[in-house]
Amino acid sequence: MNNSKKMALIASVCSVAMAACGTDAETSTATDSAAGKSDTTAGDAAVQDAAAGNGLPAPYNVIYNVESAVIEGDQVVVRTKDLPDHKSPFYGKTHALYEAYNGTNPNFSTAIQLPNGTSDPILAAQNVTFRFPKNPKEATTKTATSLGPIGMAINGIILFNQYNGAKALLDSLEINNLDQYNGHPTPSPSLQYHYHTEPLYLTKTKGEGALIGFLLDGFPLYGPVEGGKRLKSADLDKYHGHTGVTAEYPGGTYHYHVTDDAPWINGDGFFGTPGTVTK
Ligand SMILES: [Zn+2]
Ligand SMILES: [Zn+2]
Repeated sequence: MNNSKKMALIASVCSVAMAACGTDAETSTATDSAAGKSDTTAGDAAVQDAAAGNGLPAPYNVIYNVESAVIEGDQVVVRTKDLPDHKSPFYGKTHALYEAYNGTNPNFSTAIQLPNGTSDPILAAQNVTFRFPKNPKEATTKTATSLGPIGMAINGIILFNQYNGAKALLDSLEINNLDQYNGHPTPSPSLQYHYHTEPLYLTKTKGEGALIGFLLDGFPLYGPVEGGKRLKSADLDKYHGHTGVTAEYPGGTYHYHVTDDAPWINGDGFFGTPGTVTK
């Protein structure tokens, strides 16, 4: 077991043992930083056994910058290193993808003040495995999202919900820490790069109405524009989506949209039954 896996295991234990042990630790303690994800028994061996995949549902073909994407039974299994394919000030200064902040927020800082001190993280490679239901369905009983990964953007980057480590809506503390592409890492030791809001690199390169990710329940996430209109949260249901035809789902599907206004990606939880994520 390498160190990062050991750390993940410790973090998993932490997440099971302490309900308050969040992943997005911007306003919580340093020990909070790695977990907060659904724990499952899906082991690395099973993932490594997965053959080079085929038969992926067609919309999943837009996924790139991941280690693998395969079908296992009734699940789409995606492994990712969670390393952004775009530049970021959160890459170390000697990294080829390092770029100083050049966004529009005059209050941006890579450093963030935590209760136990200042965090100024450099993002790090992860080993994350997402298991999405291949045939998503509306859940009879809806479940809330957890802190930690709630889905994955099409470039293999983790999506987080609208809350910080204290389970409060992100405030200026976190917003001022989002880089020019709206991502940032969790504090040490996990250093897990993630988006809470519009993944600007994807909506810029793929289009503002493009398919940009999948939440853990297998339902797709789209950019903010649809039918020429820039949607607001008020245009969507309480889970932050609606049902309709999209380019990738000509027969119609439930889907989420990211919006400029909170809660950005997801509202009151998953519309469908979520799969799992392990690290
Ligand atoms: Zn965050
Ligand atoms: Zn829509």
